[in-house]
Amino acid sequence: MEGRINRIKKQLHGQKYKLTPQREATVRVLLENEQDHLSAEDVYLLVKEKAPEIGLATVYRTLELLTELKIVDKINFGDGVARYDLRREGASHFHHHLVCVECGSVDEIQEDLLSEVEKVVERKWHFKVKDHRLTFHGICHRCLEKHEEESRLNKEKSYLQETEKV
Ligand SMILES: [Zn+2]
Ligand SMILES: [Zn+2]
Ligand SMILES: [Zn+2]
Repeated sequence: MEGRINRIKKQLHGQKYKLTPQREATVRVLLENEQDHLSAEDVYLLVKEKAPEIGLATVYRTLELLTELKIVDKINFGDGVARYDLRREGASHFHHHLVCVECGSVDEIQEDLLSEVEKVVERKWHFKVKDHRLTFHGICHRCLEKHEEESRLNKEKSYLQETEKV
């Protein structure tokens, strides 16, 4: 965590920005919740626990700055809420997302599945791909397992009812 904060600090310095205590508190919250996709409001509530004096506007400005510096990516999963997602260190392209339409969970695919597609785009459209957003909407493995379990139980139930009739 500290190493990562130091590298972010250097990145900010490189662009003539300082890692003020408020900015650092915001970065820490993002690092501590790396698996999550937090809205500005979510980040604000968590930062407030560490730095009660901080305001939503400051958190919001910090998130915008971090987005500009490509430390975080801003993403929208179609619910109209902007979420802030820490970019993996050394990743040149943004990771993919699996959004479950049933439970709302968001899983990540770190591996870039688009490299072949990028080559096609570059060749056919003479377009240099710098980044992309790929979000799959569907049913997650947890929900699928639940469905399978439910249908198994239902089959058992109907089987028992059938045998009772005999
Ligand atoms: Zn993500
Ligand atoms: Zn890519
Ligand atoms: Zn699900």
